[in-house]
Amino acid sequence: MSNKRVYTFGNGQAEGKADMKNLLGGKGANLAEMNLIGVPVPAGFTITTEVCTEYNLKGKEAVVELMKAEVEAGVAATEKVMNAKFGSTGEAFPLLLSVRSGARASMPGMMNTVLNLGMNDDAVKIIAEKSGNEQFAYDSYRRFIHMYGDVVMGVEAEEGQHNPFEVVLDELKESKGYKLDTELTVEDLKVLVEGYKAVVREHAGVDFPTNPWDQLWGAVCAVFDSWNTERAILYRRMEQIPDEWGTAVNVQAMVYGNMGETSATGVCFSRDAATGEDQFNGEYLINAQGEDVVAGVRTPLEITTIGSKRWAERNGTSEEDRKANFLSMEEAMPELYAELNETQQKLEDHYSDMQDMEFTIQDGKLWMLQTRAGKRTGAAMVKMAIDMLAEGMIDEKTAVLRQEPNKLDELLHPVFDGAAIAAAKELSKGLPASPGAATGQVVFSAEAAEQWAADGKKVILVRRETSPEDLKGMYAAEGILTERGGMTSHAAVVARGMGKCCISSAAGLTVSGKSMSIDGVEYKEGDFISLNGTTGIVYEGKVATITPSLDGDFGKMMELAEKNTRMYVRTNADSPADAQTAREFGAKGIGLCRTEHMFFEGDRIWKMREMILAETVEGREEALAKLLPIQREDFYGILKAMDGFGVTIRLLDPPLHEFTPNDLESQKEMAEKLGVDVKVVTEKVEGLHEFNPMLGHRGCRLGNTYPEITVMQARAIIEAACDLKKEGFDPKPEIMVPLIGTVKELKMQEELIRSTAAKVFEEKGMKVDYMVGTMIEIPRAALTANEVAEVAEFFSFGTNDLTQMTFGYSRDDAGKFLPIYIEKGILKQDPFQALDQTGVGQLVEMGCEKGRSARPELKLGICGEHGGEPSSVEFCHRTGLDYVSCSPFRVPIARLAAAQANLR
Ligand code: PEP
Ligand code: MG
Repeated sequence: MSNKRVYTFGNGQAEGKADMKNLLGGKGANLAEMNLIGVPVPAGFTITTEVCTEYNLKGKEAVVELMKAEVEAGVAATEKVMNAKFGSTGEAFPLLLSVRSGARASMPGMMNTVLNLGMNDDAVKIIAEKSGNEQFAYDSYRRFIHMYGDVVMGVEAEEGQHNPFEVVLDELKESKGYKLDTELTVEDLKVLVEGYKAVVREHAGVDFPTNPWDQLWGAVCAVFDSWNTERAILYRRMEQIPDEWGTAVNVQAMVYGNMGETSATGVCFSRDAATGEDQFNGEYLINAQGEDVVAGVRTPLEITTIGSKRWAERNGTSEEDRKANFLSMEEAMPELYAELNETQQKLEDHYSDMQDMEFTIQDGKLWMLQTRAGKRTGAAMVKMAIDMLAEGMIDEKTAVLRQEPNKLDELLHPVFDGAAIAAAKELSKGLPASPGAATGQVVFSAEAAEQWAADGKKVILVRRETSPEDLKGMYAAEGILTERGGMTSHAAVVARGMGKCCISSAAGLTVSGKSMSIDGVEYKEGDFISLNGTTGIVYEGKVATITPSLDGDFGKMMELAEKNTRMYVRTNADSPADAQTAREFGAKGIGLCRTEHMFFEGDRIWKMREMILAETVEGREEALAKLLPIQREDFYGILKAMDGFGVTIRLLDPPLHEFTPNDLESQKEMAEKLGVDVKVVTEKVEGLHEFNPMLGHRGCRLGNTYPEITVMQARAIIEAACDLKKEGFDPKPEIMVPLIGTVKELKMQEELIRSTAAKVFEEKGMKVDYMVGTMIEIPRAALTANEVAEVAEFFSFGTNDLTQMTFGYSRDDAGKFLPIYIEKGILKQDPFQALDQTGVGQLVEMGCEKGRSARPELKLGICGEHGGEPSSVEFCHRTGLDYVSCSPFRVPIARLAAAQANLR
């Protein structure tokens, strides 16, 4: 690590710059950069992320000592630029500071912030006198005690109780009959300051610190500590942000949006984060501090007039009313608006990306407090990239690389069915905080959301307003509905980041305990509602949904992916309908058709059971003969849906007990249906019992012990292909043998397949091209891949089983310990979701290398779940696979990830 721990900025100069995010965090790097490009930013300094790591290793005292001189110099530099003095007791204007976290990747609302630091009984008097605004001075003071008491001294609401500061505030407001905080008088604020100090004394057991330096060290350390709070750790897990990164601390001169009617504060976006529309937008409040805008306590106003008019329309507010009470910043402060508008354009142009900015206007002067690439929905992500490409702001490579593949998911998921929504009853209308459709049962706490979701229920989390504590519940919910809060409230920002539908400030909604009422009608936990996050409308009950369309910007993005990819994408599909969906998503073939899924439908299961019960080859053949036409029809449908593309069909894989019933009732039914004694069935079921079925009689072990099964399946495939070819189609079947560990196991199956195919060709007097290959899903198969490739024309890595067998973790039981392993840091990720590149990945690499050494033209693919996970897709690209195969809805994600891997 470097010895420099503090980087200053201010007055058009900075020691850091935009590309120093790793060291200065995103916020710190951009504060420096804004200074360098002439955007007005209050002076300050950034304590580096490396100090956070140092802090975690060496502890508080040691690290304060190490950075002390540099921080003191940073404060001195800030004092100079701002012409104020930290801890002033006399002539100089007191310098107050904001202390904010800022990691490399943005973690909105997850870590701590302290504003108005440096305030005490002396400072408040000087500020009141010098600013001539006592109201503002005492308002800042009481805010500071509240925030510092909460963040640094840990004074918070106890279980089931209200926040003690809010209790004091609410009591005062109630006794005076006030509705809004803005009604508080100077005298009230003075009473509050004393009341808050008493709260601190009572809850923290010490007096509120009056020395500004003590305050500063307390706040800096609290920001470092907040890196390791439960919610920050959870957020990092979800967003895959490494724990080692640490957060920087930004200490900056305060500027005040609460200095009266010529002051304001706001949050704005250079484009629409929900839809991607190229329309500057945001919210502001006159005479307020930043936290008022995001906390959702006062509902903020729109920045632009167009935004304000749209808001009024959604809200049913007349133009008259709007003009009287809800003026946009563009109308209320036209000159400052023009400056802000110019600044946002400058920042977007400079960074070539949509910016999410915070600003404050202090007594008629605009200050920018933050800029960062804005979080956006999947739809906005795609639209912005395509628009910016057309505008010439970015190139194709940037457009593709700027996508988060997993976010495409949001574009593929259902929206409300038009007819169903037209018939649905509207309950309320709120702000369309994050788009999409959601239907579910209402719950009123994050815990309940988690529990209900764990029980397999779909829930809508309803809250007065959300806070970062609700994060887990928000992840678990289908959608989020809040009573309060604007478009930039915590709920809105976080939901957009998650791609979850969210409506805030729903009209007529009151939440209390485990129920809510909308216009007087009560709804209890478990009642169904539906949310349209795109329009902000809340509906009663369940509303049917439909799949969205895939052209437009999405289609253009997919074209870009196609143009820039080497590896192609197939799908795992077992039915013509799935194959068709995947084809529409751009799948070029099927990488895995699991034939066993076909045996469960309708009365097929009885034919399968008949086969299982048969004790002789003839008996089995008789039952299989009944299955043949059904299988042939299945394969006909799938090969037709994927006409012209390779279709990998896997021979029967699961242990046979999966097809027989476990409980006596069903066994009796089976006996009756098949005309045998129930004992025959029970004995068969017992006979099929295995201690470790995943390592038991399954995969090619079935085909090698009951060759007639392989013969039937091979015949069904080849006959279907012949029929299609006769009709002028171009079927390309690839017959895949599962779970081989030795080449002999494959060889035996291959001979059966080829001899069966030859017979069919002779019977039909025609031929079709087909391939025979295998899955590589047992470590031994990878280790001996050169031998296996002598027989196999293709390999498909079954990384589900390969992971299971390499780690020795049962894929069906790992849920019991994997979450704990991840929590304890034994594993970084679930290896069944993201391919373990260091371990399992070596087997894949070895399989490819050895396989191609024996057969250079060997076709290589992957069909485990990892085939749709971006980091695994990138690995597959690097390893030289020809394709990845994944479930239909992940096809676009995999296509984009494959293109990104190619472009990186
Ligand atoms: C695999 O093991 O990765 C695979 C695709 O097969 P299944 O999940 O059906 O065992
Ligand atoms: Mg498998």
